[in-house]
Amino acid sequence: DLSNAIVAQDEMGRPFIIVRDQGKKQRKHGIEATKSHILAARSVASIVKTSLGPRGLDKILISQDGDITITNDGATILTQMDLDNQIAKLLVELSRSQDDEIGDGTTGVVVLASALLDQALELIEKGIHPIKIANGFDEACKIAIDQLDKVADVVPIEDESYLLKAAKTSLGSKIVSKSHDHFSQMAVDAVMAVADLERKDVDFELIKIEKKVGGSIEDSLLIKGVLLDKDFSHPQMPKQVKDCKIAILTCPFEPPKPKTKHKLDISTVEEFKLLQEYETKKFQEMIDLVKQSEANVVACQWGFDDEANHLLLSNGLNAIRWIGGSELELLAIATNGRIVPRFEDLSPEKLGSAGIVRELEFGTTRDRMLVIEDCSNSKAVTCFIRGSNEMITAEGVRALHDSLCVVRNLIRDNRVVYGGGAAELTCSLAVSEAADKQKGIDQYAFRAFASALDTIPMTLAENSGLDPIETLSHLKSKQVNENSSRLGVDCLGKGTNDMKELFVIDPYIGKRQQLLLATQLTRMILKINDVIISGKDEY
Ligand code: ADP
Repeated sequence: DLSNAIVAQDEMGRPFIIVRDQGKKQRKHGIEATKSHILAARSVASIVKTSLGPRGLDKILISQDGDITITNDGATILTQMDLDNQIAKLLVELSRSQDDEIGDGTTGVVVLASALLDQALELIEKGIHPIKIANGFDEACKIAIDQLDKVADVVPIEDESYLLKAAKTSLGSKIVSKSHDHFSQMAVDAVMAVADLERKDVDFELIKIEKKVGGSIEDSLLIKGVLLDKDFSHPQMPKQVKDCKIAILTCPFEPPKPKTKHKLDISTVEEFKLLQEYETKKFQEMIDLVKQSEANVVACQWGFDDEANHLLLSNGLNAIRWIGGSELELLAIATNGRIVPRFEDLSPEKLGSAGIVRELEFGTTRDRMLVIEDCSNSKAVTCFIRGSNEMITAEGVRALHDSLCVVRNLIRDNRVVYGGGAAELTCSLAVSEAADKQKGIDQYAFRAFASALDTIPMTLAENSGLDPIETLSHLKSKQVNENSSRLGVDCLGKGTNDMKELFVIDPYIGKRQQLLLATQLTRMILKINDVIISGKDEY
């Protein structure tokens, strides 16, 4: 192609050709393009694959500024990896959409998508057109989902122990696993506190997750109310107050400056004493106003000096100072109180009410925080995650998020399928069976789809140190012979493959979403047959 070549002459008059630099424009086309995508997807999947399941391994992710994350959460691993490859980025999107919609199964979906792509590659090499493969996969996916529908069990969500066990399963592979009783209880309590069982809905906005470094992960707790990073203003105030009436003030506990026309001039001891008396009197007036309103807790946006603090203490008022504007608002909303700008405006109906306000003290660190519980107006809860360092608390937050999602999903839809690859296996068997009835090319696509489903139990087996192929064939024949869709990989060596007995369940909607998303993504990638990457110095 000489269209952008020009002929020039050198100083001796000899002609030569200059071909204009084509920049870094690259182009891949057709099957070559599809193949290179699949290889890119495979390399990403191989990274997260080893973290699937309860025996999955953790990854250390180091950001550009050296921050460290330790996790085995697929979505987190993928988001933090700095990927240039476009297809790899699609996989990241994939696990993110699973995360947004369902919140769990983010590793599984990537492993499944890449298995589907691997299978597609083999079919492409056999000469089957990518679109035909994609269509076949779509059909196979329908059969798999029908099978899920058939084998799904219903769990009684009224029975909290089911929810607890489900939450516990989702924590299985996380570093918090040694305190998973504690975490699953927290997740169930949090969801149940805000759940609307009639509408089968859980508003996640009402569940706040906070973390603070210090203590151990077992010190994490659920607070049914508002958490303030503050303490009572005087160390001798009681550590907790019950039946609280809270005055929420935006005026400072300070006497107004004496209103003299001239500037304040103190030259004698008497004058100073007068001023002091004036201040004490004003403080007392303020305190009287608070007491008249029958408040027993004062929450103040501003600070106050030792004198005021002491007076508050001696009048039996618990006080909190320097509360930020937004926290003050939150407090007002939760306790159904009004924010009061002047002491004169205080009245009983403007006070916020809460069952209890108490100070939390954390073991060795001298941190203190205040919790305002049993608030009158809010179902809001705060999950407060503790841990000895930033990494642990961050992983704690992610783990809790996962189990909150599992519990929420069960409330939305109480159908479950069995984990440990059992659901994938039964789907795989159903799709294989359907393959035999297919004529033409679809039967290849169906078989390929079934093999891709097998990857999940195989990966689980491999990650638990079992022989993948042996485990797979054993489980498959067992599922067929015993006609049971509950048999999966015994990852933890409990001595049974019955996932119902082990209570390894996955919410039905999560599993279905995994199948749908992975199949959709595969179609999308198979449809791309041309990639043009424009170079930066192109002109
Ligand atoms: P994801 O990010 O996809 O949720 P996980 O690492 O949490 O990945 O692994 C989830 C997989 O591990 C699911 O297939 C689940 O069924 C399986 N699994 C979890 N706990 C067990 C267990 N105790 N025994 C066997 N399989 C389990």
